[in-house]
Amino acid sequence: MQNLFYLTDEQRAIRDLARDVARERIAPRAAHVDETGEYPQEQLAALAKQGLMGLHIPEEYGGSAAGALAFCLAAEEVAWACASTSTIFLVQNLGGYPILFAGTEEQKRHYLPRIAAGEITAAFSLSESGSGSDAAAVSCTAVRKGDRYIVNGSKMWVTNGSHAGVITVFVTTDRAKRAKGVTALLVEPGLKGFSVGKPERKLGIHGSPTVALHFTDCEVPVANRLGDEGQGFPVAMRTLQQSRPTIGAQAVGIGQAALDAAVSYARERRAFDQPIGAFQGIQFMLADMAIAVHASRLTVHYAAGLIDRGETQTAMESSFAKCLASDSAMKVATDAVQVLGGYGYTREFPVERFMRDAKITQIYEGTNQIQRLVIAQHLLGKL
Ligand SMILES: Cc1cc2nc3c(=O)[nH]c(=O)nc-3n(C[C@H](O)[C@H](O)[C@H](O)COP(=O)(O)OP(=O)(O)OC[C@H]3O[C@@H](n4cnc5c(N)ncnc54)[C@H](O)[C@@H]3O)c2cc1C
Repeated sequence: MQNLFYLTDEQRAIRDLARDVARERIAPRAAHVDETGEYPQEQLAALAKQGLMGLHIPEEYGGSAAGALAFCLAAEEVAWACASTSTIFLVQNLGGYPILFAGTEEQKRHYLPRIAAGEITAAFSLSESGSGSDAAAVSCTAVRKGDRYIVNGSKMWVTNGSHAGVITVFVTTDRAKRAKGVTALLVEPGLKGFSVGKPERKLGIHGSPTVALHFTDCEVPVANRLGDEGQGFPVAMRTLQQSRPTIGAQAVGIGQAALDAAVSYARERRAFDQPIGAFQGIQFMLADMAIAVHASRLTVHYAAGLIDRGETQTAMESSFAKCLASDSAMKVATDAVQVLGGYGYTREFPVERFMRDAKITQIYEGTNQIQRLVIAQHLLGKL
C-alpha cells in the first residue's frame, strides 16, 4: 500500500479500521450480493458497529467529525470490497449532508444521531424521469396549505429509497422559477400518499436498491422543510460538491480491486511457458492501470483535503476527483477483464463485476459530461 505521508494518525486509523471491516465482513459477501441483489444489511451493521456511519457528522450530533478525507479513505476500502455496500455507505453521507447544511437545530438533533449510529439510513432524491442532468427542471410539486405541503408527482433513481428512514426530497414550489422554485423536504416512509416503486434492474451495484418515489396528495408538514422555500437548489448543489469526491473514492476502490485482481492473475497464469506478467504487453497495461488508480486517489484526497480545510468553493476540484477517478475505474476494470482473458469474462472471477460496477460511477451524482461542464465553466466563466 502506498505511503500516503500526509495522512494524520486518526485518518490512518480510520482507513485501517474500514479496511478490516471491509475485508473480513464485506468482501466475502460481495459476489453473493451481486448475484442475488440481496440488501447488504449485515455489512452495513458491521460498519455502523465500528462507528463508521458518522464520520461526516459533528460530535455534538453523535458523529466523529473525522472529515471528508477520512470518509473518502473509508469509502475506498468499502468499495474495494463491495461496490453495492459502498453505494449505500455513500448515500448515508449524501442523505445526511442536506440536514447538516440546512437543517434546524431540531431537525439535526432528530435525524443526525440516528444516521451516525446507523439506526436509520438516509437517501437523497433530486432526479426525476425528465430531470437528471437538468436538475432544475424538477416537476414534482409541493403546494402549501396551512402547516402542510401537498406533494404530487414522482421522483426517480433514488438509491436506498426503499430502505431509508429519512429522504431529502427536492420538489418545486414554483416551477416557472426553475432552480429558485426548488424546495427541500424531509420525507419519512409511512406518510399517507407516499409509496415506493419497484427496484430498477441494473447493470451493476445489484445490492444497492434504486427506486422511484410516488407522491399522491401526500401531506408533508412544513416543519419538515429544509431551509427556506425556494432554497433547495443551493442545498442540493452544495451537497453534491461535498459528495462528489466520495464517488471518486468509490471509483478508486473499485479500480484498486480490479488492479489487484489483474496483478495476482498475471503472476499465476502461464502462456508460452511463462507467467503472462512476463510479457511487456501485460506489464504496460498493469503499469498504466496503477498510474490511473494512483493519480485518481491523489486527486480525490486533494479535493477532500480542501473541504477539510474549510474551503467552500471546491466545485471544480470535486469534479476533477469524480471525473478522473470514475473514468479511470472504468478503464482499469475493463483492462482487468482483458488481462484475465476469457476467464475475465466469466462470473468465476470478480473483474466482470468490477467492470459493471465501475460504470455507474461515471453516471450518478452528475454524469461525467456534467462534471466537464462544471470544469469548463470555471475555466471560461460566463461567455
Ligand atoms: C443506479 C443509479 C443510482 C442513482 N441514484 C440517485 C440518487 O440517489 N439520487 C438522485 O437524485 N439521483 C440518482 N441517480 C440519477 C442520476 O444522478 C442521473 O441518472 C444522472 O444525473 C443523469 O441523468 P439522466 O439519467 O436523466 O440523464 P440525462 O440528463 O438525460 O443525460 C443523458 C445523456 O446526455 C448527456 N447530457 C445531458 N446534458 C448535457 C449537457 N448539457 N452537455 C453534455 N452532455 C449532456 C448526459 O451526460 C448523458 O450522457 C441515480 C442513477 C442511477 C442509474
